[in-house]
Amino acid sequence: MPNAAEDICEIGRRLYSRGFTAANDGNISMRLDQERILCTPTMTSKGFMNPDDLCVVDMDGEQISGHKRRSSEVKLHLEIYRQREDVNSVVHCHPPHATAFAVAREAIPQCVLPEVEIFLGEVPIAKYETPGSQAFSNSVVPYVKHCNVIVLANHGTVSFGTTPELAFWYTDILDAYCKVLLLAQPLGPLQYIPDDKCKELLTYKQEWGYSDLRIYGPDAGCNVCGHQSFRGHWKEANVDRRAFADRQETASANSNVSLSSADIERIAEKVVAKLKTQ
Ligand SMILES: [Zn+2]
Repeated sequence: MPNAAEDICEIGRRLYSRGFTAANDGNISMRLDQERILCTPTMTSKGFMNPDDLCVVDMDGEQISGHKRRSSEVKLHLEIYRQREDVNSVVHCHPPHATAFAVAREAIPQCVLPEVEIFLGEVPIAKYETPGSQAFSNSVVPYVKHCNVIVLANHGTVSFGTTPELAFWYTDILDAYCKVLLLAQPLGPLQYIPDDKCKELLTYKQEWGYSDLRIYGPDAGCNVCGHQSFRGHWKEANVDRRAFADRQETASANSNVSLSSADIERIAEKVVAKLKTQ
């Protein structure tokens, strides 16, 4: 499979040149057939790989060929291939801006940039587990069927698609988005795209054949930006909105609408929590 190997090396060069993989970080893989996965080796810079550096493993992670040893993190890739038959390539790396959200465990805001809504949608943060362990591979299972990129708490990102190029794009889009969010943060609260305009974006998304829980999920059609399909997992992953206020809070702060007693109670709780940490 000379083209598959060349494709992986090309994506490796892009990851390294974008600063997504320091030293020997990161790994890339591609499905060769139902039983075999082509993947990158351990202890090798992803920016300087040759096709014959790559390894072939079976679906249990046993190495079939290649003179270098396969990465221990390939088990994460295998879990994604098991869960998603449509996925043919997986990219794992440590892009700095998205990884900033991973270490702060800050939920990725939604309804800020149209392209992000179309190509990514809601981006989950999987709970922290030791890299290479089975628990690490399992940490993505709650999300993997409903997205194309996952932030790994205190670690990095993993993205997946039909081709290595697409798998890389999803990480690239996420990191560029996280960079914009971090640049915007000192300027003041985020201004969100109104809900009706977000519904328009979801209509396009549906027409173009992209999946999104906010179109198909159990609460589809409700408040798009407050949807947060993955909020149920925030607690176990210690994810929250700490740096970026959610849409409702920003809207209240920007208007003179009177607050409901539930709003006041929620804000009071936050103020008390904040005071306790000082
Ligand atoms: Zn890693």
